[in-house]
Amino acid sequence: MSATPSDNSPPQPAWRILLVDDEPTQRLIVARLLKRGGYEVEMAANGREALAKLEQGDYPLMITDWEMPEMDGVALCQALRSKEQGYTYIILLTSRDAIEHLVAGLQSGADDYLIKPVVEPELIARLNTGRRIVTLERSLRAANEENRRLSVTDPLTGVYNRRYLMEQLPREIDRAARYGRQLATIMCDVDHFKKINDTHGHLTGDEVLKWFAQALRIGVRATDWIARYGGEEFVIVMPETHVDNAAMAAEHLRQHIAEQPFMVGGQELRVSASFGVSGWRDKVPLDATLDSLMAQCDSGVYASKAAGRNRITIESLD
Ligand code: GH3
Ligand code: MG
Ligand code: MG
Ligand code: MG
Repeated sequence: MSATPSDNSPPQPAWRILLVDDEPTQRLIVARLLKRGGYEVEMAANGREALAKLEQGDYPLMITDWEMPEMDGVALCQALRSKEQGYTYIILLTSRDAIEHLVAGLQSGADDYLIKPVVEPELIARLNTGRRIVTLERSLRAANEENRRLSVTDPLTGVYNRRYLMEQLPREIDRAARYGRQLATIMCDVDHFKKINDTHGHLTGDEVLKWFAQALRIGVRATDWIARYGGEEFVIVMPETHVDNAAMAAEHLRQHIAEQPFMVGGQELRVSASFGVSGWRDKVPLDATLDSLMAQCDSGVYASKAAGRNRITIESLD
């Protein structure tokens, strides 16, 4: 990773490499070679020490000896592959040169196999291969994570989407039932939203929804989460929360939204919402269902609308 004088790109951080060998002289020889190649080197004297370092730090590359006391290189590869999160590219560097050793080494989870004594240009070339693979693996992992995030997010408001709610809320209910915890949910629906669209246009309607979702987000605790249930309907899930406390939270949200004008073209637009709060006064029972919880919330919203909107209704389940 060393930059040449003509290279104008900013210097990149050195790649970290974990070098595992029980012989101090062998370790020093290889470490010197790696440092010359621009690597940042950490050392361990056996597999157990290496595992401890791998648990604490991020090592994209590892070179390990086979025969070592306490835990050998093959056991190290197996242990690492059984619990890995970020990928570590492993080169086994050993004096065992029989073909069955090579096969066993690769089967244990090593990516590459080199026979001592080490030949500098070959080791550097093989590490370059490792870096290519680690770079590819990391960019795929990042892309996967981004895809997963997008698949559960509502693109307009940035809160969770309905799919996430329908997958995650049943899990939340099960967990609360299993551990005898409380759980409450708030459903809310923007009042006369169609009129906002009709009067100010669909784009302004979209801005109102973003503003509304943001008001919900800043009005709830970090352990609560929000999903867009439908067009202008949202659900707030409140783990470990008594339904009466959820009702207090809903009332705060209602007031805040009703008092806070949304500005459009220099004019104040008053927006309000109707709320339905549900949940269990006692711990969540084992036969609790998503459908019953959503039905109670829905009925609460309906009652709030019927009573004149801009209010909350509590419909608890016990
Ligand atoms: P109520 O007080 O009874 O809830 O009346 P409302 O007008 O809010 O309810 P209604 O269900 O009649 O209308 C909801 C409107 O929300 C209709 C629909 O076009 C609009 N809508 C749904 N999704 C979006 C969206 O993503 N953006 C915008 N701008 N409008 C949306
Ligand atoms: Mg050894
Ligand atoms: Mg609606
Ligand atoms: Mg509405």
